[in-house]
Amino acid sequence: MATLVGGIEAGGTKFVCVVGTPDGEIKDSVRFPTEAPEQTMANVFKFFDQYDVKVIAIGSFGPIDINEDSATYGYITSTPKPGWTNFDFVGAMEKQYPGVKILWTTDVNIAGYGEYKAGAAKGHKNVLYVTVGTGVGVGYVQDGKFFQGFSHPEGGHMLPRRYPGDEFKGVCPYHGSCIEGLTAGPAVEARAGKKGHLLAVDDKVWDYEAFYLAQACATYTVTFRPDIIVFGGGVMKQEQLFDKIRKQTAELLNGYLDTPNMEDYIVHVGLGDDAGIKGCLLWAGDNL
Ligand code: ADP
Ligand code: ZN
Repeated sequence: MATLVGGIEAGGTKFVCVVGTPDGEIKDSVRFPTEAPEQTMANVFKFFDQYDVKVIAIGSFGPIDINEDSATYGYITSTPKPGWTNFDFVGAMEKQYPGVKILWTTDVNIAGYGEYKAGAAKGHKNVLYVTVGTGVGVGYVQDGKFFQGFSHPEGGHMLPRRYPGDEFKGVCPYHGSCIEGLTAGPAVEARAGKKGHLLAVDDKVWDYEAFYLAQACATYTVTFRPDIIVFGGGVMKQEQLFDKIRKQTAELLNGYLDTPNMEDYIVHVGLGDDAGIKGCLLWAGDNL
């Protein structure tokens, strides 16, 4: 039988487990809500117990410890989600599946990897992936490796200059009006009084959204110099944002440095909601 690899897209709301080929073809998958770790891991084991896989790649909600020199490598660290604080995710998987290689990164990185290998960024070497959903997450894939320092970047929490006259305080519990606090789905909802998908495409909210996300793109450009910036997540389903973000990013950069054409530089995901699970299989496949 052909070699199979596995993946887990471990989100704060739901888990998706997948098995498939090393080149990303999905053979079987299951999804279930994220409950307490005991129940959730029982569901994970029930799925993978059926398969003989060589590698399982995990893309997890966080914050997580991805520093291989750390005593708590493989742990979910300071999450407010009940039961998951200091949960040794990689340890639990290694105990259940001795001999299987367990790979570990953030849910954002793994979706970025999917886009890098098989989505909108295919063929590019330096790929910055940004998700604007329940939060704002940033992952940088460089030549197949995830950029990290002491730990994973948290580029959603950068602090922007304010839109003139915008008094909205933002909803990030740590920073109020960071990019996440101003632009993620809950911020849209707090500002507008209803969920983003219910707003008109020309609602003023989208002008604020683009103003702040363009600053994020300009900052990611000057700090990382990626070949491409790929946006995913529920809020970015508002396609009208893209042209506004492109235009304002170019204005902010003001000709200071070369970038690709904005239409090719700031793009929407190619794999849609499959970016994470495809990313798991492809990353696992590259680590066989
Ligand atoms: P998560 O970040 O939890 O993985 P999503 O990327 O689906 O999940 O993001 C969910 C957020 O995106 C919610 O706050 C939701 O209101 C918002 N959202 C989902 N669809 C749309 C849409 N079409 N337009 C605007 N916002 C949306
Ligand atoms: Zn913040």
